[in-house]
Amino acid sequence: MDGATEGRVSGSARSGHPEGAGRAAETRRRWLETLARFRRDPDRPATTAYWSPSLDCASRDELTQIQNTKLAASVPFLYENSAFYRRRFARLGMTPDEIRSTGDLAKWPPIDKAEMMADALAHPPYGTYTCVDDALWAERGWMLFSSSGSTGTPRVFRYTQNDRETWAWANARALHAMGFRPRDSVLLISGFGPHVWLWGVQAALVLMGIAVLPGGGLDAKARAGMIARFKPTAIACTVSYALYLGRALQELGLDPAASSIDKLFIAGEPGAAIPHTRERLQDLWGARVVEFYGCTEAAPHVGGYSCPAAEAPGRPVATHLMEDVQVWELVDPDTHRPVADGERGLTVCTNLATEASPQLRFLVGDYAVFDRRPCACGRTHVRALGGFAGRADDLVNLRGVKMYPAQLEQAVRAVPGVGDEYEIVITAHDDGLDRMTVRVEHADGAIGAQVAASVRTHCEVRVDVEVLARGTLPRTEFKAKRIRDLRGQTPDVTNQKPEGR
Ligand SMILES: [Zn+2]
Repeated sequence: MDGATEGRVSGSARSGHPEGAGRAAETRRRWLETLARFRRDPDRPATTAYWSPSLDCASRDELTQIQNTKLAASVPFLYENSAFYRRRFARLGMTPDEIRSTGDLAKWPPIDKAEMMADALAHPPYGTYTCVDDALWAERGWMLFSSSGSTGTPRVFRYTQNDRETWAWANARALHAMGFRPRDSVLLISGFGPHVWLWGVQAALVLMGIAVLPGGGLDAKARAGMIARFKPTAIACTVSYALYLGRALQELGLDPAASSIDKLFIAGEPGAAIPHTRERLQDLWGARVVEFYGCTEAAPHVGGYSCPAAEAPGRPVATHLMEDVQVWELVDPDTHRPVADGERGLTVCTNLATEASPQLRFLVGDYAVFDRRPCACGRTHVRALGGFAGRADDLVNLRGVKMYPAQLEQAVRAVPGVGDEYEIVITAHDDGLDRMTVRVEHADGAIGAQVAASVRTHCEVRVDVEVLARGTLPRTEFKAKRIRDLRGQTPDVTNQKPEGR
């Protein structure tokens, strides 16, 4: 892929102007210096409990001061090196010195995916938001990733060597908090495609000196065999795959709960935030569920991560967000104004540590509730209570009642004995009323009434339930696509098989 599309970044666009090029280089130098100053404990954990206690357990004032220092270096860097940000400042009639602290952030309207997409379409293939010009791309070395494309065409991202170093370090801090130690060995289950997650995990595991078992390109039986033979202590995969692989072990006469696995490192689907799914995973494997939270746009490194106190009894699961490398805010879905701690809002991320994918208030768009009170684990960084169970884009509207796929999953899995696989089909009807049919697997057809009652309790909608024999629905191997919304399509196609993979 040729990175030399002209005019994409201000550095190359303004290379004819020595003064501008000088400012671009100078702001970059200051930004990199600031980053290096706060990359504490770069190679190894400072203590057994915390990778970098002076960051992980910093006081609220210290955290704010670090964020402000990074922001004051970052904003001029974006302005001088990225054509996208430069244009946006001009359009808003703002100058970089108007954003010098986290208190100034609300002046800058959040950037959403549509705005990023428009820039990428106008300046293919990468867009102009990156702070790296063609000469730097050639010099630095990089890696290509893409978004999942769940809300449109997949967008591509490159991360530089600088970014990769921050990436390994920040992810190592998160993995350390999740309980990963050099005695662990991790079976990575992925196709090793352009999704950022497991590549970042791999980079961190190398830095941490933790054993890695690559599990790509194998079927479930072969992976089950790897667990039996090599006894890894953790698997990293999607939620659906952890269920699928556990069942595959059972079919081979092996008990996942008696296996060597003590940590399930899941990603790709909001499983940890759905109590009944988390319980199902933990019971099946006799292992603790841990997860990352983030998005490719504000990557490469992690945003959120589980800590040892993530699951305090009687409290919702909580996920820390790494505040010295990113500023996390919640905003009102309609007005985009910041919401207070304890209130529900959409996640917005300002990424303070990447030159290739810098984000100044990117609307990630997951609903969350923040809590800045100290955590029992000793870390001080903000926590999302209840985790991240739904993206605003995924909202399902049935006859005016709005719900998230995660709520439906929680409702279905609340019914004991219902199989791992289920699907939800939404259809339009001549009477004008849309209908939702939940298809589950169970040996007893009478379970349907319980499923319908559970959905009514959790989601406040009436649904039809079809109870199918076990093994009828396709097994989900990777990311599950459980909701098929057929409204707007030809009716009577409910017998189509879902997109199982
Ligand atoms: Zn904690």
